[in-house]
Amino acid sequence: MASGDLRPRPGKAVQQFSFVDALVAGLYEGAFAASDVAEAGTLGVGCGDALDGELVLMDGRMVLCRADGVVHSVGDDERLPFAEVVAFEPTFSVDVSDVGERAFERLVERLVPSNNLFYALRVDAAFSTMTVREAVRQEAPFRGLAEAVKDQRETTARDTVGTMVGFKGPDVFQGLSVADFHLHYLDSAGRFGGHVLDFELVSGTVEMEAYSTFTLHLPEVESYLAAELDDMSADAEIRSAEGS
Ligand SMILES: [Zn+2]
Repeated sequence: MASGDLRPRPGKAVQQFSFVDALVAGLYEGAFAASDVAEAGTLGVGCGDALDGELVLMDGRMVLCRADGVVHSVGDDERLPFAEVVAFEPTFSVDVSDVGERAFERLVERLVPSNNLFYALRVDAAFSTMTVREAVRQEAPFRGLAEAVKDQRETTARDTVGTMVGFKGPDVFQGLSVADFHLHYLDSAGRFGGHVLDFELVSGTVEMEAYSTFTLHLPEVESYLAAELDDMSADAEIRSAEGS
């Protein structure tokens, strides 16, 4: 059963810290205090300093799922190179069952009123399989994202219960954000998670909220200020790095 609606509400905005093309260019220096990111929202995704893990922000709790298998609780004084968060107050929910990743995306695309807005998603569910990747901590000087993700660890968990959080964004924001779906997973025990590549969902609930406002916070660290970002056509690299 679906209930609610997906009209963006005044005063609600996606808050994004840095942008995906900056990651593609290898700008992994933690530019934002984790405390500032946590203050901007209760749900979201991101990555760790030097690409050290996949960030999950859920119910105001922030963790990094690292490639060494550790789920690390992020301290206020840690710094993050990229995050996308919202103060999540879902206006729509629907029960789903027996869908794989592609079918899930098609289902959400049919439910939303437009593909040209931002939607935050929270999916609490049981999964028969969940495949995630975790980026591996990079050493300076940083290589670009397309090279860095060749190191990534991929893991498939079977019969896992947990929560996917993230976004569906407009295609035209590719490069600033991620086109289509960008979801991170954390199991209910808080022991397994990462950037979602594939899954088979058994049954669960999808909650969503729509946004027509997007706020971008640019980094102010020297590595960003001095970077040359004027000759980027990163679409193919983002698609390969994000697994879509
Ligand atoms: Zn991700």
